[in-house]
Amino acid sequence: MNGGQTLHFQTTGLGERDVGATIFIVCPLVDIVIAQDNDDPRVESGMHGKIEPKLTAPGDAGTNNLLRALRDHDAEVLAEIATPWWGNFGDVLVQPGDTVQYVYFPCGPSLISYLVVLEDGSMVETALIGREGAAGGIVSQGRLPAYARAEVQFPGPFMRIELVKLEEAKLGSLSLRHLFARYADCLMAQIFQAVACNAVHNIEQRTAKWLISAMDRTGAPVIPLTQEQLAAMLGVGRSYISRVLGTFKQRGLIETRRRGLVVGNVDELRALACGCNDSVRQHFDDVLRGVYPAEGISPEEDHRQAPVSPVPALP
Ligand SMILES: [Zn+2]
Repeated sequence: MNGGQTLHFQTTGLGERDVGATIFIVCPLVDIVIAQDNDDPRVESGMHGKIEPKLTAPGDAGTNNLLRALRDHDAEVLAEIATPWWGNFGDVLVQPGDTVQYVYFPCGPSLISYLVVLEDGSMVETALIGREGAAGGIVSQGRLPAYARAEVQFPGPFMRIELVKLEEAKLGSLSLRHLFARYADCLMAQIFQAVACNAVHNIEQRTAKWLISAMDRTGAPVIPLTQEQLAAMLGVGRSYISRVLGTFKQRGLIETRRRGLVVGNVDELRALACGCNDSVRQHFDDVLRGVYPAEGISPEEDHRQAPVSPVPALP
């Protein structure tokens, strides 16, 4: 540990970083500062720490791309009802059968997994939600029971909005309804692709795809997951995933840490992955141009003057 130093952590990537004790994260409408004791917070700790969120002005360089794609009026409305929230690894946002209360918008490196719980209690990941999207009542409208379990996969900052308030806001804004409808279409595409991927692509391809997919969303090569966690998400045994990761390591694609992985050769890993991630990204590009993280909006870009999303204009 290098106590006393400051880590300036820019959630659009790992571009600015010193090793140290404090993390500063920029999120839409919120600054969050946490105290952190480990050298590499995302590998070693799960980011548990002191959290001091405070609201800032709407329009700050946000790192949830869906929120950043909002039009001016919609951004103002959501700023009134959105609150900052911090998710730690494994926090369960919703269980199957629960009434969905909140919509969660991952910011920066935060990731949510949708997991389907099987008869024997095991779980398989069906969708990964990062800063390109949101989780909770996106496809359905109104208060309905959740089908899948949603939990925090990578810890970090979120914005969250009570579903009932978001539904009210949607009633008053055609452009807001369109944006969420378009995102719901992308989410469906993601799940369709996951079904096909699980059916035909081998575990090596799927593991590489998962690592690339996580990197695309977090903008960082650090994957703070143990082999057990990765195996559970991919629905395979730990020894199986251990062999796959061992092969990756031998080829110099990844390095393993005590509680995580670091991608060493992105290009080769990308070449090894199946094309499912690219297919989903292409659909995001077609439907919500600029919202998928890999094609993210630069902080300098003013989406409201030069819309990045082909959301139809209000009449
Ligand atoms: Zn695939």
